[in-house]
Amino acid sequence: MSALTLDHVTKLFDDDGDEIVAVDDVSIDIADGEFLVLVGPSGCGKSTTLRMIAGLESISRGEIRLGGTVINDKPPADRDIAMVFQSYALYPHMTVRENMRFGLEESTDMADDDIERTVTDTAEMLGISSMLGRKPKELSGGQQQRVALGRAIVRDPEVFLMDEPLSNLDAKLRAEMRTELQRLQEDLDTTTVYVTHDQTEAMTMGDKIAILNDGRLQQVATPLEAYHEPANRFVAGFIGEPSMNFFEMEVQGDRLVGEEFSYPVSESTLENVGDAERVTLGVRPEDVRLVGEKTDEHDFQTTVDVVEPMGRENNVYLAFTADSEATFVASVDGMRSVEAGQPAIARIPEEAIHLFDGDTGVTLQ
Ligand code: ATP
Repeated sequence: MSALTLDHVTKLFDDDGDEIVAVDDVSIDIADGEFLVLVGPSGCGKSTTLRMIAGLESISRGEIRLGGTVINDKPPADRDIAMVFQSYALYPHMTVRENMRFGLEESTDMADDDIERTVTDTAEMLGISSMLGRKPKELSGGQQQRVALGRAIVRDPEVFLMDEPLSNLDAKLRAEMRTELQRLQEDLDTTTVYVTHDQTEAMTMGDKIAILNDGRLQQVATPLEAYHEPANRFVAGFIGEPSMNFFEMEVQGDRLVGEEFSYPVSESTLENVGDAERVTLGVRPEDVRLVGEKTDEHDFQTTVDVVEPMGRENNVYLAFTADSEATFVASVDGMRSVEAGQPAIARIPEEAIHLFDGDTGVTLQ
């Protein structure tokens, strides 16, 4: 069993006498064979977390367990964990074959024939058989990344750790490799922790995603749960493209009153609001509708500021008044003709809104 557990893991760095809390009391359970994506903005502690799992960084507090055994003090070479980096980290003077053999020769006492067979089989699986005799500089970025993966796969480790492995590839290749990596991971069924700052990568690849901000774990959930039921305002804003629209509102009787508009709410919404005096109202761009005329109390007169054609849909940026600088975005059918400067009626349906505590950001609805 290769379940991986992070139990109240904390990492402190000393920066000229100042204490930096890079990872703050993070607990995550990753099941055997699971693909967990660790995602968050730059500097949130993703790489540090991965490096602690790999043994490249000491753990200040807490425990990391692999298959139930505490590995805090195990040297990296004894952890049976293989890491794939953004930079590929291939040996430039070795051929692809030698790069892939190297890890096995170092870490196992496998017979030469077996090593050769493992390398050949893995190269075939990755579609790089014809390149075994080449040096890394004779390969494209995508091919080099396959070799880096191959070098990890031949070792048949208990855990793969991947730190932004696709970020040096162009957009099209990155999308292809995403699918390929998922398929590979499913076939190999190896517990994997994959770090990225790209929410699209997290949404499309992970069985589960763990969202970090400022060293703190915000939520561990399936991609769909994080999207539809974000734990707080940070997750709601981080997951989804274009981002969720947010409006700061004051609670006044049965209305939420903001600078630009006032939003009537039902009894059940008020119950969710509870004692909060200030809330953040959130609505996903695809939930904002453009309607022909005002027929609902949640319809608002707006002006189209900018239209961003995306093909299948248009991202339409709307302002409540013509001279307002604050805009919000609606994703509407791309076939529909909408032009900047036009008036538009935006419907923000009550069943689609999210509410967050105005002070803490915690989800209320
Ligand atoms: P990125 O996506 O930019 O790589 P990240 O989420 O991986 O960011 P980390 O590299 O884990 O973030 O860094 C987390 C925090 O710890 C940052 O504030 C960083 O400056 C700090 N940090 C990382 N390594 C050290 C170190 N060796 N000494 C001091 N501070 C460090």
